[in-house]
Amino acid sequence: MTTEQRKVAIVTGASRGIGAVIARQLASQGLAVAINYANSADEASRLVVELRQAGHQAIAIKADVANGEDVRRLFDETEAKLGKVDVLINNAGILKVLPLAQHSDELFEQTFAINTRGTFNTLREAATRLNDGGRIVNFSSSTVGLNLPGYAVYIASKAAVESLTQVFAKELRGRNITVNAVAPGPVATELFLQGKSEEQIQAFAKMPPLERLGQPEDIAQVIAFLVSPAADWVNGQILRTNGGLV
Ligand code: NAP
Repeated sequence: MTTEQRKVAIVTGASRGIGAVIARQLASQGLAVAINYANSADEASRLVVELRQAGHQAIAIKADVANGEDVRRLFDETEAKLGKVDVLINNAGILKVLPLAQHSDELFEQTFAINTRGTFNTLREAATRLNDGGRIVNFSSSTVGLNLPGYAVYIASKAAVESLTQVFAKELRGRNITVNAVAPGPVATELFLQGKSEEQIQAFAKMPPLERLGQPEDIAQVIAFLVSPAADWVNGQILRTNGGLV
């Protein structure tokens, strides 16, 4: 594929976890990938080196998705270095498990700033800057269906992402851009594992009928489908990817 034909993707929160595996997946499909991160500069630049050594086109861009100005710059730099954006994967997110009554104002605001406003910020840019025929995938969570104690604020921030997804898909009428969300169950990354005992991890792993935790690759495969021509007719949907958990 020549540079002229190469499609361009932004993956937010791609320094680690699910996002890093999505970046590898999209690069292996021939997309040029902008690897966004907020703090993990070393991980992001190692991933860029890995992808370039494999013959792919990749850059790392530090930007806090919660900050509208940062997100504008994320698109500016991607356009300048890779070209106009075709695929936006809104993967960046945080999870703090804590009963609602124990949430501070700061933690409530941080969760909504990154998970919800972060998605809003990139969607707003994408509305005018994504190529026609593009693909957008947002990140919700299967906890929206489980309503687990301790997850109220996180679930609320992700339920809002589901609403943004469904309405934005309609607002892009006429552009041939699909907007979907994936809603993973527990995936073995730092976000899920941090702060949990081995017993708690095993209890989560036993919950779905397929009796294991998800791996980042399980989610990256679904992203690969959603950005492929095979998913041309999938739009405005929330795809729960969780081994049958809910
Ligand atoms: P993770 O391993 O903790 O990785 C999170 C990524 O998001 C990191 O690359 C981090 O970058 C980035 N990030 C955090 N805050 C950011 C910000 N303000 N701006 C830009 N990037 C930021 O998490 P994960 O498990 O891969 O989760 C990815 C997505 O899947 C999240 O939206 C999460 O809610 C969702 N999800 C995960 C699970 C699960 O069980 N793991 C289940 C359902 C849904 P830095 O390190 O550079 O800050």
